[in-house]
Amino acid sequence: MLYQTAFLINILKNQKTDFEKDVVNIELNSKTIYSYHSTEYVKDAGTPDRYYSVCKDVEAGIVKAKNLRNPQKCIFLDRDGTINKYVGFARYLNQIELENNSSIGLKDINQSEFISIVITNQPVVARGEVSFEQLREINNKIETLLGKDGAYFDDLFFCPHHPYKGFEGEIPSLKFDCDCRKPKICLLLQAKEKYNIDSTKCYFVGDTTMDIQTGVNAGMKTILVKTGEKGEDGKYDVKPDFVINSLVEIKNIMGGD
Ligand SMILES: [Mg+2]
Ligand SMILES: [Zn+2]
Repeated sequence: MLYQTAFLINILKNQKTDFEKDVVNIELNSKTIYSYHSTEYVKDAGTPDRYYSVCKDVEAGIVKAKNLRNPQKCIFLDRDGTINKYVGFARYLNQIELENNSSIGLKDINQSEFISIVITNQPVVARGEVSFEQLREINNKIETLLGKDGAYFDDLFFCPHHPYKGFEGEIPSLKFDCDCRKPKICLLLQAKEKYNIDSTKCYFVGDTTMDIQTGVNAGMKTILVKTGEKGEDGKYDVKPDFVINSLVEIKNIMGGD
């Protein structure tokens, strides 16, 4: 409270003050304020250029569209081979690199009316090859790499399970036929609930037929991206609604929505 008072006195004296530095950072340490993650429209409008860009978004209806009271449009994305480079099952941080230009595609999504949610199968956890903590570090690295390019995803849901038991080093409690492993849609239903998502206005994007099957199972339009496994996994006999060479092309599909 003391710092907030100092902040107000500065304003009254017409002196320069900064809400983030003079209040938020200090109060964060004292744990009297809390933060939460939001998919709604939040932007710095502190310079004339930024202010006019926000005005444009208001006029284009993007601010209203991203209000969670309104049903959300979402692009669901696979992780490996779609956002980061496919290296089989990624186990180590040094295996994580972004897929060519995936950050450009995500940035286009971020600037659109669509929110973006990653849905990924990570059976490496059930196999005992990657711990929950290591998986968190890998996901953080992907977010950091995207962040360097000014891109982000709004949330990530993963399935740590695997259906077949009997391997050395595995975690038996995670070895069962769960409802969340793609192409099952339990993770999509959780996301739908959390973000008020309208499935009829969504796309599922991925580099395998399993991703396309997931989108089909959830009643969404599907996009095969020819990076990573390039749709050559041969697991499901499904046809995507759209095929793109990389995430950069996703803006053409969103624009035509
Ligand atoms: Mg993949
Ligand atoms: Zn699962």
